[in-house]
Amino acid sequence: MNIHEYQGKAILKSFGVRVQEGIVADTVEQAVEAAKKMKDDYGSDWVVIKAQIHAGGRGKGGGVKLAKNIEEVKERANAILGMTLVTPQTGPEGKLVSKILVAQDVYYPGESATKEFYMGVLLDRAKGRNIIMYSTEGGMDIEEVAEHTPHLIFKEEIDPKVGLQGFQARKIAFNLGLSGNAFKEMVKFVAALYKAYDATDSAMFEINPVLKTSDDKILAVDAKVNLDDNGLFRHPDFAALRDEAEEDPTEVEASHSNLNYVKLDGNVGCMVNGAGLAMATMDIIKIAGGEPANFLDVGGTANAQTVKAAFNIILKDPNVKAILINIFGGIVRCDRVAQGVIDAYKEIGNIPVPIIVRLQGTNAVEAKKLLDDSGLQVKSAILLKEAADRVKEVFAA
Ligand code: GDP
Ligand code: MN
Repeated sequence: MNIHEYQGKAILKSFGVRVQEGIVADTVEQAVEAAKKMKDDYGSDWVVIKAQIHAGGRGKGGGVKLAKNIEEVKERANAILGMTLVTPQTGPEGKLVSKILVAQDVYYPGESATKEFYMGVLLDRAKGRNIIMYSTEGGMDIEEVAEHTPHLIFKEEIDPKVGLQGFQARKIAFNLGLSGNAFKEMVKFVAALYKAYDATDSAMFEINPVLKTSDDKILAVDAKVNLDDNGLFRHPDFAALRDEAEEDPTEVEASHSNLNYVKLDGNVGCMVNGAGLAMATMDIIKIAGGEPANFLDVGGTANAQTVKAAFNIILKDPNVKAILINIFGGIVRCDRVAQGVIDAYKEIGNIPVPIIVRLQGTNAVEAKKLLDDSGLQVKSAILLKEAADRVKEVFAA
């Protein structure tokens, strides 16, 4: 689950990571109040107005703007709130901005003495370990740094048995070219950042830029945080951090029905139990000459309710020309699933596309008979090959 920069910074702060301070606002009036408070608390007249969306590259897209006085705060907040921000990470359709962060200008009183670094904590799947990836080249696109100057990216592997060691934090500070107070600050920063990542069961904490201020403080100017969905049950309070407006509406609806749904660009909708079978089904569709319109894993319970929810979600996609249901009845009995399909079909009424149902496993024969006798526009199959042939027939017709 992705969260906003302001939420990520709140987590970081709670673990003792120094951050660029800010106050979130969703109206121009709130932004003005926030800017006044930032001046009272931190002294500087200047603030940065930062669009809060679940995508990076906001600066490039015009979603991060400096304001030097209250007039400019009004002007910038007004321009950014409600804008559709397009960044290299949002796709061409962009994202609607409904919240801004009014943050202290941490580059003040001049950028000459500041230095930007990159730091990310993430899981290296190949190594099976968490790593801290860092670079002297902060503030810019890390993918570009990786492509053009890969020798400027360093990696520190964390041994899960002992966690981050003091010498590793010092090595990072040293490799970033720091000394004196900035060195000490960086050591503390790295330790607190790693602790935040570890304790929240995160999948990624990316801080770009990490800033060395003109008075040698080290702080997080940005925070891109991805919390591991599989760890969320251990952090019930994180549920409040979810912003469904940032997610694909159909995928949100699917998640409320406990369906694992990913939209794709093809024309054959699929409803399958188990991720492996779902992938095999997508292959079968391709072999039959179609393209999968989605990945959909209904999980262990393929009853009328889940099947109905799945139908409704698949049918939202106007590209769908046929639906292939491929369910293996191991724990769940095929005749139960067939009845679920029939009940869901009748409840929805007119389904405008042909349905191909392949049920294999316990009571597969009974299931096929139920479907064949139902009088519905359902083509049944037991073998995968038969199912593929039925899909082919749809495209031949
Ligand atoms: P991103 O573009 O989505 O990664 O958003 P960031 O939070 O990283 O901000 C983008 C850029 O805005 C940073 O790389 C900085 O160069 C700039 N920026 C952020 N905060 C400040 C600030 O307090 N003062 C100034 N002058 N620039 C800032
Ligand atoms: Mn950034």
